[in-house]
Amino acid sequence: MLDVANLTASYGVSRALFGVDLRIGEGEVLALMGRNGMGKTTTVKAICRMIASAGDLRFDGQDLHRLTSDAAARLGIGLVPEGRRCFRDLSVRENLIVAARPGPWDMDRVTALFPRLGERQGQNAASLSGGEQQMLAIGRALMTNPRLLILDEATEGLAPIIRQEIWAAIARLKSETGMAILLIDKSLKELSGISDRAVILQRGSTVWSGPMAELTPDISEKLIGV
Ligand code: ATP
Repeated sequence: MLDVANLTASYGVSRALFGVDLRIGEGEVLALMGRNGMGKTTTVKAICRMIASAGDLRFDGQDLHRLTSDAAARLGIGLVPEGRRCFRDLSVRENLIVAARPGPWDMDRVTALFPRLGERQGQNAASLSGGEQQMLAIGRALMTNPRLLILDEATEGLAPIIRQEIWAAIARLKSETGMAILLIDKSLKELSGISDRAVILQRGSTVWSGPMAELTPDISEKLIGV
């Protein structure tokens, strides 16, 4: 479904990606791993067409380099960005509706996945807790009816009990839908439990990729530091 090869990208004169390779098949869950600053978010920005890049970047065979970010979203790539980025002055309901595209995911289904969003429909996003804002960011991405959902640090800074709720929702997405998922997260334990495959970045390049079961403690200690 997603095919990335030799991807490069820069911020001005500063090169951030030197050669990222990764593939995600239909219904697959991929963990994109690496220490801080290794290029995970930049890779996601390139996939979602939020930063210029070069190399091979294809979704369903289509060259993403030819597309704008909204066209990439329409093609079926849904992003839950780092830092959530909810529309603070819009209500929960409005945050969800602005993203809506036809498909099985609608308000009812999103609020069934996250009942708190249903209870808080009329509240402004700014008044939600961090965990609720994260649920809203996931719900907003689901409302676009993506075939590939990208979650960039979706449990960052949340209380353990809320983190568990988010992981449980991701596990449901995996088991109950055929959605492909790309996950970036600091918890190796949680990533190991849910991901089919992993890709590890170091200084903007892919240095390891393979089935999650083959990611041994010595590899993760050496390449990720955990
Ligand atoms: P983290 O886990 O800390 O979010 P990451 O693996 O997602 O890290 P990136 O955020 O993709 O890493 O950063 C890759 C490199 O690009 C780093 O050297 C970072 O300093 C640099 N970088 C990221 N964003 C910018 C920016 N807006 N302008 C300039 N350099 C940037």
